[in-house]
Amino acid sequence: MTASSFIDVEPLRTILQMECRRNYTNTTVLGGLDKYLSNWARETRGKINSPELLTRFTELKLADSSYAGWDVYKRKEWIKDVLDWLARAENAAEPAPEKKSKARSRTTSRPSTIPAGRSPDGAKSLDSPVTVAKGIAASSASKLAKLGVQTIRDMLYFFPRRHLDYSQRKPIAKLEVGEEQTILATVWEARIARLGSQQGTEVIVGDETGNIRAVWFNQPFLARNFPTNAQLVLSGRVFEFRGNKVFESPEWELVEDKELIHTGRLVPVYPLTRGLYPRQVRNMVRKVLDNWAWQVTDFLPQEVKSNCRLLDLPQAIMQAHYPDSNLVKAEARKRLAFDELFLIQLGVLDKKRDWQESQPGNAFTLNNERLDRFLNSLPFNLTQAQQRVLQEILDDLQKSRPMSRLLQGEVGSGKTVVAMAALLVGADNGYQAALMAPTEILAEQHFKTIRQLLSNMSDEKIEQGNVCCYQGLLSRPVTFALLTGSLSEREKSELHQQIQEGKVDIVIGTHALIQKAVEFSRLGLVVVDEQHRFGVLQRSALRQKGFNPHILVMTATPIPRTLALTLYGDLDLSVIDELPPGRQEIKTRWLKPEQRGRAYDFLRRQIAEGQQAFIICPLIEESESVEAKAAVAEYERLSKEVFPSLRLGLLHGRMTAVEKDKVMQSFRDGRLDILVSTPVVEVGIDVPNATVMLVEAADRFGLSQLHQFRGRVGRGEKQSYCLLLAEKPSPVGSERLKAIEGIQNGFVLAEKDLELRGPGEFFGTRQSGLPDIRMARLSDTQLLELARNEAVALFRRDPDISMPEHRLLAQELARVWQTGGESS
Ligand code: ADP
Ligand code: MG
Repeated sequence: MTASSFIDVEPLRTILQMECRRNYTNTTVLGGLDKYLSNWARETRGKINSPELLTRFTELKLADSSYAGWDVYKRKEWIKDVLDWLARAENAAEPAPEKKSKARSRTTSRPSTIPAGRSPDGAKSLDSPVTVAKGIAASSASKLAKLGVQTIRDMLYFFPRRHLDYSQRKPIAKLEVGEEQTILATVWEARIARLGSQQGTEVIVGDETGNIRAVWFNQPFLARNFPTNAQLVLSGRVFEFRGNKVFESPEWELVEDKELIHTGRLVPVYPLTRGLYPRQVRNMVRKVLDNWAWQVTDFLPQEVKSNCRLLDLPQAIMQAHYPDSNLVKAEARKRLAFDELFLIQLGVLDKKRDWQESQPGNAFTLNNERLDRFLNSLPFNLTQAQQRVLQEILDDLQKSRPMSRLLQGEVGSGKTVVAMAALLVGADNGYQAALMAPTEILAEQHFKTIRQLLSNMSDEKIEQGNVCCYQGLLSRPVTFALLTGSLSEREKSELHQQIQEGKVDIVIGTHALIQKAVEFSRLGLVVVDEQHRFGVLQRSALRQKGFNPHILVMTATPIPRTLALTLYGDLDLSVIDELPPGRQEIKTRWLKPEQRGRAYDFLRRQIAEGQQAFIICPLIEESESVEAKAAVAEYERLSKEVFPSLRLGLLHGRMTAVEKDKVMQSFRDGRLDILVSTPVVEVGIDVPNATVMLVEAADRFGLSQLHQFRGRVGRGEKQSYCLLLAEKPSPVGSERLKAIEGIQNGFVLAEKDLELRGPGEFFGTRQSGLPDIRMARLSDTQLLELARNEAVALFRRDPDISMPEHRLLAQELARVWQTGGESS
């Protein structure tokens, strides 16, 4: 037996098995089984060197099958016979004695089963560049790359945005004006014609019920595609012109012996980029599907698939692109969305176990007297919700299994004091504690807040710039430090030194600073503010710093519970679902463009009464520098033309930390009336005297972001306002504006947000290091629950994902989590 005589049985076997599962509908291979077989047979025949096998090969008519013409029973029987034949061919190829030795796979050059993702010719895998597919040239590849499609696998997972429903065929006589319809007709005449002022193509087609004209403007070259008497499918909208019906620029396709892909069915609509055209992309995707989809290994254990009634993966991929019906399309989406959620959940569970089973953390003991003294020194009483959550945290801190908790709480619900109490408990136990904020401004603000709280209750204090020391709080002096990028190198290294020597108890800084630069001597607790910028991988990284500290992450982004359990499944969940008493509703108004002048007048009046205002410039996704430029221009316009007599400040992402701080400081101290800012102020800043938040191009922001903006005001006693300006909002944009106008409660808004968001628009999955999400929707609560339950069950059975039946799953997990982590 030589390498060249090796018959590769696996691809055909996979197809036939799938065809069985699809009830012999001849839908497994696009284009039909017979065509596939005839190609396969041509390649295979020469390799058969057993006369017996060859005879059977001929009997089964493998080179010349007529599967399409048979009924289900015949198909079933025949497939069984072919599978038998494949098994025999495979056995004949086995050099019997040393079946599993490594030597064999080297000498025969190919294993008898194809490793995951390999194509029959071995060299091309699903991870090969798209150009390995016939018909995809390098020039197309570079355009596809812009859409994130580089490999064959990317292409398979490059799902259409939506489908055009061209599946309803109509006789010409029944066509209705104004609707999307499809006809199958014979070409009578096709010619280049003058259409208005330009040349175009005109075709007359007919069926047994009548004739109709179809025209394509500006595309005279199309005419040669329509030979007289050809069968043509047209899909598109029908118009009326001088009393006659006419198809204008319909999608078209000649009926040949292949399946329709542009017409007469649910036709995929792909994202495009300059230089790529719908027909071309459909053709390319179709080709890749035909050749590769069935080679995707289905990594889901059979049991999970049957429990959850999920399609097989290759089928799901094909149907997601070219669905047989809307029903199957939904099934395909379900399978693919399930995969995403299931893999996230498994990965997160794995991370959770990692930290739970790693070396024990530090069990703190609680000195209630000192804690109470801190709480009593606050200028307010904790709300019920704050008390409950604090208790949950304190319970965790007293265990040697390190805390890993997510604290969710509406903007302004008072998370900071709760965190503060935890930090003090840490310091009281002789450990170091860190509070990490997403931005310098926020870190500084936390530092100031905490300094204020503590200096009230301290007997003696030393406050030197960014380091403060208080006597009388705990049994020993406590030292706080603010670590920011704007410190000088010398100050920084001095501070690092002190932290490393354990001379600083509580460090406040940005994520980056604390993570990268600092070595602690006894880090016992880390509080992370604003969770969504700090993902699961960063959390793991922090644990791997060797201390296994307690971790508390805080977020003001309300996430429905099921979703939180999946995305942040490695964390326990606490919720502050109550605002401190006396908070007023922030009056929110969506203004029409022509009301801009009145909005400015309103700002002037508020400022005349001693209040301050924010103006948020539009979100510009292009780049931070473009955004900054636009903000500068807006600032100039507002300063010179609109509010010449007021004091304006500007804040954008291109300013240095020192510049930002200066502006923030002036605003906080009341030396500025209006702060004009790019969306960077989104997170957490606290200026109680600000009562107006004016958001430009508000329709471009997501609901949770708008809610965050709104949360910047209403922090003091005075009635506060949020004014939203939008030029020409899209329907979804309008929905969002209506929602934010009417809903104050962050959790209710989050639910609304779920409804309005499309597939894949998860907040920050990229930043958070989670695998890609394309198919799952935030609103898939049932599916989320299903995926979560299955993942938990599987994880319980096989926590290392090491059972043989989970081998493919383990590979897939490694693959998606590895690529997901790149951006972190
Ligand atoms: P967030 O949860 O958005 O981080 P903060 O912790 O910044 O909210 O708190 C917002 C404001 O509410 C702060 O000025 C804080 O001092 C105040 N605050 C916190 N808890 C209470 C409470 N129980 N009663 C009254 N005011 C409170
Ligand atoms: Mg906060």
